[in-house]
Amino acid sequence: MDHITKTSMQVTDDNYMNTFTRYPIVFDYGQGSILYDTEGKAYIDFLAGIAVNTLGYSHSRFTNTLISQSRKLIHSSNLFYTAAQAKLAKLLVENSAADRIFFANSGAEANEGAIKLARMYFYKQGMHRYEIITTTNSFHGRTFATLTATGQNKYHTPLEPLPPGFLNVPFNDIEAMESAVGEKTCAIMIELIQGEGGIVEAQLDYVRKLYKLCKKHNILLIFDEVQTGIGRTGKMFAYEHYGIEPHIFTLAKGLGGGVPIGAILAKEDIAAAFEPGDHGSTFGGNALACSAGACVMKILLENDSKLIKECASKGDYFKDKLEKLQNIYPHIIVAVKGKGLMLGTQLDENIDGGNIVNICLDKGFIINCAGNNTLRFVPPLIITKAEIDKLIATLKDILKSL
Ligand SMILES: *Cc1c(COP(=O)(O)O)cnc(C)c1O
Repeated sequence: MDHITKTSMQVTDDNYMNTFTRYPIVFDYGQGSILYDTEGKAYIDFLAGIAVNTLGYSHSRFTNTLISQSRKLIHSSNLFYTAAQAKLAKLLVENSAADRIFFANSGAEANEGAIKLARMYFYKQGMHRYEIITTTNSFHGRTFATLTATGQNKYHTPLEPLPPGFLNVPFNDIEAMESAVGEKTCAIMIELIQGEGGIVEAQLDYVRKLYKLCKKHNILLIFDEVQTGIGRTGKMFAYEHYGIEPHIFTLAKGLGGGVPIGAILAKEDIAAAFEPGDHGSTFGGNALACSAGACVMKILLENDSKLIKECASKGDYFKDKLEKLQNIYPHIIVAVKGKGLMLGTQLDENIDGGNIVNICLDKGFIINCAGNNTLRFVPPLIITKAEIDKLIATLKDILKSL
């Protein structure tokens, strides 16, 4: 191990809080879908910083946008206007089901704001409805409200007491949701494909019934599109696969192409519940983050959304190859799941997914193991079929050797 590699790891471990189990790799730079570590080893990246690096690495138009924006203006506060924020707000509102937007800095913060907006919406009508219903194995973030919304008890117990007003029911179970709804319910919040939970898709029929349930009881439907949004599933937003529009949805991961940004999007009558002073952010929507988001959006939308269409077709290609692997090794791969370039292979419970991740790293491929012993594949949207073929060939070798 060379000096930089060793010191970067040691200095981090000596100074950073012990919150992450890290791989012994120090990344130096990237190009396209390939990352290089400080020892010069190349890795084809099927994680993209956890579904973040939409355009891969060193994308010339994207990096030039960031360079020229940072030469002009990085931050000026929301006490004033910037052209970059105006541009990104318009791009997202014009190309989505929403009428208004608010910018935050992360997924958790966007979801936190969405929960506040839902409660505020009823409060402003003089109604005391505050209960948010979410689903098991969901992931909504690490702040107190979003952690409470997250349907994974392992995160809850050490931090109790948690904020009240959250209910959790099994995912894809409409009857459980129906019986959880009461007169205090203000919103239902779900991911259309559970990401951290292990690439679990919300069924079409379930989502349509949720929509009707919300309509019947005057409940808000919130989609957490922090991971599924921005082209990831082969549509700009995952709700487009379902033919329905949410009242509120949130974005973050893929939006800034690696620059931290989150967003709450809502229909006009709901967004109107926020009045000056009700919500805010110092950094949220600053000029640098918004210029990054606007560049990502423009590149995704241009040429009749060519890149998003390619994401869908490369995703089909990739999924087909994974299903072929499943056919050869059905005792190892029990399910192939997901849409677009948000795919997963659920492994048999006797297989150590973490071990496969480590072998992949050794062979120069970055993947990860999400919930439910599921290998997750969320590469940059610019990944090539040739790169997908290389991963499939490597996985095939690994599965053969198990
Ligand atoms: C990652 C993620 C979050 C949290 O985003 P942060 O930026 O880490 O706060 C919330 N919801 C979903 C669906 C996510 O995948």
